[in-house]
Amino acid sequence: MSGESSAGPRRLVLLGHPVSHSLSPRMHAAALAAIGSSLRYEAIDVTPEALDAQLDALVAEGAAGNVTIPYKRRVADRCAELTDAARRAGAVNVFWVDSGMLMGDNTDIPAFAWLAELALGRAPGAEQMTVFGAGGAAAAALAAAERWPQCRVTLFNRSVERAESLATRFPVVCRIAESREDAVRDATLVVNATSLGLRGDDPFPVPVDALSSSTTVVDLVYRPGGTPWVRAATSAGLRARDGIEMLIEQGALSLERWLGVRAPREVMRDAIVRQHAGRT
Ligand code: NAP
Repeated sequence: MSGESSAGPRRLVLLGHPVSHSLSPRMHAAALAAIGSSLRYEAIDVTPEALDAQLDALVAEGAAGNVTIPYKRRVADRCAELTDAARRAGAVNVFWVDSGMLMGDNTDIPAFAWLAELALGRAPGAEQMTVFGAGGAAAAALAAAERWPQCRVTLFNRSVERAESLATRFPVVCRIAESREDAVRDATLVVNATSLGLRGDDPFPVPVDALSSSTTVVDLVYRPGGTPWVRAATSAGLRARDGIEMLIEQGALSLERWLGVRAPREVMRDAIVRQHAGRT
């Protein structure tokens, strides 16, 4: 399934609600300029009531784009065809139009695998992974982990029902933990896939002193200078990374899907670092 229609996308957009905080428009603007494309990438804040009509208009226009919170599942439900990754995650973060039909993919899955590899400093394998959260980002992490030989996952989420519902879709989940501290016992890799950390005064997903010194920390949330949890883990001597590299990789894979050219990852990273520097 190619992301390019014969004429290529006429327009690139980001659909979400809210979207004003997103770093994607600046990242993609830099990438499009670097590859000499005249396309523009614009964020559209769509209310839930307006999403269906907005998608109809984008299909008619031959647009392509990304999807962020809270529409990844709704857009997946609207697609005529999904890649295996999007079907497995039950969520779409990349869409395009082919022969007048809406198509969807999920690049959060390979992007999470890339972030985990960077954080671990080696290819992920027989990890004992803890995932905090049970939303779309947690599903992407589980879909990546089920491809790692002998990886086992312990899940913890504020709402137990949501954790149970996600676990039934992913046999890689071996256990739903009863407490945060219980969840990280024996973990080699601990992943925050909740929204905790978006605000500076959020509590940590789990206290750093509950982690062993050999645990690697991955936070899907990102903030200028790293999230407080990642900074605390690094200070305690643990390997730790926030979600910036996942953001860049999912965006790069999106661009490659739409335009069929190699994405300029360094340019995209520089654009984010510059934008972050302006916000610090
Ligand atoms: P989502 O589907 O809305 O899920 C949010 C998750 O966070 C749920 O598990 C929710 O628990 C939990 N949560 C929210 N507030 C909480 C709190 N105060 N205490 C404990 N748990 C809380 O969102 P998502 O798409 O999975 O995204 C989750 C995070 O990952 C977001 O911050 C997003 O920015 C980040 N993300 C990053 C990237 C990247 O490229 N780096 C990609 C995707 C997502 P309940 O089920 O109990 O409500």
